Amino acid sequence: MKKPLVAITGASSGIGKALALEFGQKGYPVLLMARRKELLDELEIANKVTAKVDVTNLEDIQKAVEDAEALYGPVDLMINNAGIMPLETFLNQSMKDKYDTLDVNIKGVVNGMQVVLSGMVERKHGTIMNISSVAGRYTSAEHSLYNGAKFAVNAITEQTRKEVAKDNVRLILIEPGIVDTNLLSTTVNDQILQEYQKRKTAMDNGLTAQEVAQVILHTYELPQHVNLKEIMLTHTKQA
Ligand code: NDP
Repeated sequence: MKKPLVAITGASSGIGKALALEFGQKGYPVLLMARRKELLDELEIANKVTAKVDVTNLEDIQKAVEDAEALYGPVDLMINNAGIMPLETFLNQSMKDKYDTLDVNIKGVVNGMQVVLSGMVERKHGTIMNISSVAGRYTSAEHSLYNGAKFAVNAITEQTRKEVAKDNVRLILIEPGIVDTNLLSTTVNDQILQEYQKRKTAMDNGLTAQEVAQVILHTYELPQHVNLKEIMLTHTKQA
């Protein structure tokens, strides 16, 4: 049977790239979005559309979804995955890093939801997965803006889920602990980086991006009436 279109933001690296490969290898047509389109174009996936997208720009996502839907039909799964984590104390963090954290991690998710949700409600079918974090449930040192953004993603997802449950649309929160990716590339404070690396080493570098992607694929492939609403997943050694 023909598989439906899966859209993934932040597909050029880490969890998003692993998602692209997992879904692609399973035969799903995928719409891959990120700013570094050249990295998306390198991925060996049979049925893919790649688009240069900044998730803070609603029109970028809208255009990418329209182009991909013209080829493969409606998006049935939207994974709002793009995110950044410039860790710093509130007082030391630049206003640019503060606003970028809010813009990419909250506005980016809201934009992704906005583009696909009404179509899913009309079709009475579809799934949105928002990649939050354990940081969406617990605060921790140097995470204040990141915590704030992920707490917001949790609240927005939970309330929207209640609004569209009757329409057979699933909204799912994914809350990973430490995953071995490039997420710290926007953190510049060496001491914070070293402390983080120490924690990561103590848990064998955390989960792999592929492990997170496999959990997401399994969750999506459950029957539409089964909504695994919230998944917190960590390396067993992460307390
Ligand atoms: P990576 O840094 O490896 O990947 C982040 C992705 O987000 C990249 O593909 C990047 O693409 C994209 N991105 C960043 N800013 C934008 C933007 N403005 N517009 C479009 N795409 C953007 O990190 P991860 O894979 O770890 O992160 C993925 C998600 O997982 C994030 O939401 C993160 O918060 C969450 N997460 C990660 C954890 C971890 O320990 N790694 C733990 C818990 C949650 P490009 O630069 O090409 O635009």
